[in-house]
Amino acid sequence: MRKKIIAGNWKMNKTVSEAEALSAAIKRELDTEAKVDVVLCPPFTAISAVSQAVSGTQIAVGAQNMHFEPSGAYTGEISAQMLREQYCRYVILGHSERRQYFGETDAGVNKKTVAALAAGLKPIVCVGETLEEREAGKIEEVITTQINGSLAGISEADLKNVVVAYEPVWAIGTGKTASPEQAQDVHAMIRGLIASLCSQSAADAVRIQYGGSMKPDNAAELLSKPDIDGGLIGGAALDALSFIAIVKAANEA
Ligand code: PEP
Repeated sequence: MRKKIIAGNWKMNKTVSEAEALSAAIKRELDTEAKVDVVLCPPFTAISAVSQAVSGTQIAVGAQNMHFEPSGAYTGEISAQMLREQYCRYVILGHSERRQYFGETDAGVNKKTVAALAAGLKPIVCVGETLEEREAGKIEEVITTQINGSLAGISEADLKNVVVAYEPVWAIGTGKTASPEQAQDVHAMIRGLIASLCSQSAADAVRIQYGGSMKPDNAAELLSKPDIDGGLIGGAALDALSFIAIVKAANEA
């Protein structure tokens, strides 16, 4: 049985004081008995404050990006070690906004994934097709390239610490959600790809989140699908009650 995982990607939102207020509200509302993993991914500047706000709870903290080198002349970058020092346990890698606006490639995501795992962080590796690619019938081709490229050379033991997020680009921040059946089809395909890349037991262990306009009113149905092991939540993670409602849906799924 894979434990479900709900992660909030706050993107470039929330000052330190706003982040403290949001994490305190989530902490207050969250069942201490939540059966799922809950991760908050604030911007770099608020990681320390959020880590403090949730310390002693089961809520984990994650970052939204990192560099693959441990240190050096990489102006503006942050390393895995720096994130660990701020009590991060997860890091989102290869989000479509990073691929689209910052030129991230599968090869770069692979280097970051390797570095994150070596530093003891659990990477949340994002993949997903654009609307154009979906309409051209290229979903399988695109996802296969992204999975094989991003997860190349990762050992079976390490793969068990990787979370994959399937985020169809056309569903991110658009209010359009993949139907539970559309999402399940791609999740099952991703699990098959991981089995071919590594082993069936790694594929059975890897958690695959869905991301793309997941909200309290569609979460339960998405999360009821056999290969949907959680959600990566953007917009709805900025509101404590919406985020908690999604966590509760995951608890009951
Ligand atoms: C995301 O950016 O990871 C995301 C899923 O955003 P939203 O929930 O707003 O579509």
